[in-house]
Amino acid sequence: MSTPHEAASPTDEPLANLLFDHTGADIILRSQDSFHFRVPRIYIVNSSPILGRVIRRTSRSLGDANAIPVVKPVVHLPESGEILHCLLTFIFPVTPRVPSTPEEIMELLSVAQKYQMGTAVTHIRGSIARQNSLPARLKPTLHMYALAQKYGLRPEALQTARAILLKQSMTIEDFDNELDIMPGASLYELLKYHERVRAILASDLTKFRMSSARGTITGFRCTELSPSQIPCWLDHYICSIEKAPNRFDLVEFNAAMARHIADRAATASEDLHCDCASIPSQTRSIREFWEALGSVIDGSFEKVSVVDVPGCLQY
Ligand SMILES: [Zn+2]
Repeated sequence: MSTPHEAASPTDEPLANLLFDHTGADIILRSQDSFHFRVPRIYIVNSSPILGRVIRRTSRSLGDANAIPVVKPVVHLPESGEILHCLLTFIFPVTPRVPSTPEEIMELLSVAQKYQMGTAVTHIRGSIARQNSLPARLKPTLHMYALAQKYGLRPEALQTARAILLKQSMTIEDFDNELDIMPGASLYELLKYHERVRAILASDLTKFRMSSARGTITGFRCTELSPSQIPCWLDHYICSIEKAPNRFDLVEFNAAMARHIADRAATASEDLHCDCASIPSQTRSIREFWEALGSVIDGSFEKVSVVDVPGCLQY
């Protein structure tokens, strides 16, 4: 691919060096910022029914839509050259190009969605999953959530809403402090989503506790056992996740266990002896417990995601 673009553009050089100039091109896609992409229409028509209609309409205006015109039809599109270029890399047999900023990534997905490029949308999401992980800090994650809401990208809105709930213990006041990042309506919807998840978590985690953590941690002699015969400290730990899902974290779990073991070690009475100190060595039990707890939490999130994603425009 080489470099043709006609008008001066504010876009940086790397894009100009990568623009499509395909052998056998029979149409030109013109970006909002005046980059030209010379491509065979068949790729575009086969990838997007929306663009297919636009191309046929443009071709008809030049005469026979089925003939190869002397003058290549120019299809004006409202996207930037950078976004169009990235989009085309998911249609043509070239190395996929994912934009560098969260804003552009979300915009790329939204454009592919708008043009009903189902296969491209899938490929873009796959590339994003391989190349990016969600930000660790709250503000960038909230920003990505707001972008997903803005562009009507439901899977991304769900993914970020879940990440926020699992990483942060947020109060209504915390949300109020983030109004500079996203509109109040989006924050309100996020808060409602979190409330729904917590309500379902409370129900599902209660069943989990009553099932003795699905039998994954039983038979330990502890001075304080719950009615379902698991140590009370573990019962309390599971309960705490209902109110603060960010406590679903191995560090939090190990800290709760360590506190209990230290408490018992500090008591001299033989009557208060318990076997919990041996739990850390029961690696298989711990792993099975953790996987079972994770599957309960995943299930709770999925129940909400099916019907209750707020504020999204599509999907
Ligand atoms: Zn114990």
